[in-house]
Amino acid sequence: MNGQMMQQPLLISSLIVHAERHHADREVVSRRVEGDIHRTTYQQVAARSRQVAQALGTLGVKPGDRVATLAWNGYRHMELYFGVSGSGAVLHTVNPRLHPDQIVYIADHAEDQVLFFDMSFLPLIQAVAGRTKTVRHWVAMTDRAHMPAADVAAKIPNLLCYEDLIGAQDGRYTWPSFDENTASSLCYTSGTTGNPKGVLYSHRSTVLHTMAAALPDCLGCGAADAILPVVPMFHVNSWGIVYLAPMTGAKLVLPGPGLDGKSLYELFENEGVTISAGVPTVWQGLLSHVDANGLKFSTMRKSAIGGSACPPAMIKKFKDDYGVHVIHAWGMTEMSPIGTAAAFKAQHIGHSPEQKLAVMSTQGRAIYGVDMKIVDPDGAELPWDGQATGDLLVRGPWIISSYFRNEGGNPLVQDAQGHGWFPTGDVAKVTPEGYMVITDRSKDVIKSGGEWIGSIDLENIAMAHPAVAMAACIAAHHPKWDERPLLVVVKKPGAEVTREELISFYDGKIAKWWTPDDVVFVDAIPLGATGKMQKIKLREQFKTHVLPTT
Ligand code: ADP
Repeated sequence: MNGQMMQQPLLISSLIVHAERHHADREVVSRRVEGDIHRTTYQQVAARSRQVAQALGTLGVKPGDRVATLAWNGYRHMELYFGVSGSGAVLHTVNPRLHPDQIVYIADHAEDQVLFFDMSFLPLIQAVAGRTKTVRHWVAMTDRAHMPAADVAAKIPNLLCYEDLIGAQDGRYTWPSFDENTASSLCYTSGTTGNPKGVLYSHRSTVLHTMAAALPDCLGCGAADAILPVVPMFHVNSWGIVYLAPMTGAKLVLPGPGLDGKSLYELFENEGVTISAGVPTVWQGLLSHVDANGLKFSTMRKSAIGGSACPPAMIKKFKDDYGVHVIHAWGMTEMSPIGTAAAFKAQHIGHSPEQKLAVMSTQGRAIYGVDMKIVDPDGAELPWDGQATGDLLVRGPWIISSYFRNEGGNPLVQDAQGHGWFPTGDVAKVTPEGYMVITDRSKDVIKSGGEWIGSIDLENIAMAHPAVAMAACIAAHHPKWDERPLLVVVKKPGAEVTREELISFYDGKIAKWWTPDDVVFVDAIPLGATGKMQKIKLREQFKTHVLPTT
């Protein structure tokens, strides 16, 4: 017997329709690439998204066609989020920090038909425009007054102006209804191994993920909040925040290219931001600005940090010095991205600050919709005892079942019941209370004498030293143990610390044999397109490093 409820597909357009009807005047504030602060409302974003959908029709874009963006977090990008997906086409957000060759590769692989870009990426567009196979129109996301000069424009085939393009439409458009399993958007993984692979989200997966992300123990966002995604809209749909804000009616504040500490701080304060989200490296820039200038956050109450491990020292600093509660979260492009978030359970409420910090420093509990397990090399499930570490597998309605164009074949591992699980490539343990702790990415694990050493623990300890700005721990060759940990450190400006001091800093904090064998100081650690430390590059750089213990 079926239930007797209405059948309504879960469509991305429904989010902006809801915001227009129930939160029409709520603001969307953007720092534009033009340099100024722009203000609009959900009502206007909804109207202009409909104009985008109409304009795509005039360009010959059909349902299922891929439409690319190379853009910062801003209202025009948001209009494309709803206009493109809402019309039935697929929004392909391209990461502008990728190498131009990779951008050409993924634009060709995705068969992008139209590419919308922020003016700050004009040099990049000039480098790729003549090389892609399928892009028919290049649209500069600006008005007529800010269009490129004629000599530059002449080199970009079929260059259009965003404001002219959508300004020619009347906005009288009804969002189409279709199967909720229809593809809505496409993101490519950064391709640290091999070519980037496409992750194709559906309307259903996106709406469900957005609902789960808004829950109190995840981002916990409501209509009275103002939320600022520092995480870019070209990185896993800014963790869903551009969908979540209109769903909840929160004010949305979009920082554009201004990701430095000063620009972010200004927006946080001027716009009354209560919740934010981003990767640890960005927060480091913000915290050093706030520290150096003796500033405080007057409205910020919560910041979600993930994408790579958030050092406990950062969680503690946010809380003790600024009263900001950190939600440490974990996920990946293949998971839309959120899988776990480190919120307290009832039994933690009366705990000491140290005990609470220990909970907040884990990668967190699975949010509803995501199931997870850890397995040994034979695929047997390991206990949640806070000790056993194994490969982390996940399943759920916003987790990938196969890559775009079936690249790489079937990624899933079947269990005895025939359920497919996605192997995350992360190595983790889980506490008896269900809090997951990532100890490493499987390719970064340090294998010393047949035993594993988790590099994240070692980095977190180094990051707690007052002279350390950034730390990476990598495997260095050792004739007896195969691999031993080598700590690569960037010092804080003006700070001094020696190799010996850092090594003794580990005393009593970990098992003695985990202590790094050596420390090297560098000016900078290479960061990838999503702000993560590129350990592959570091391992290459220190391939021939001779450890003093050899
Ligand atoms: P890419 O794989 O291209 O680097 P993703 O954003 O998909 O981009 O990266 C997902 C990976 O990032 C995870 O598999 C995990 O290794 C790492 N990661 C994400 N969040 C955390 C976290 N809170 N702690 C540790 N690692 C994390």
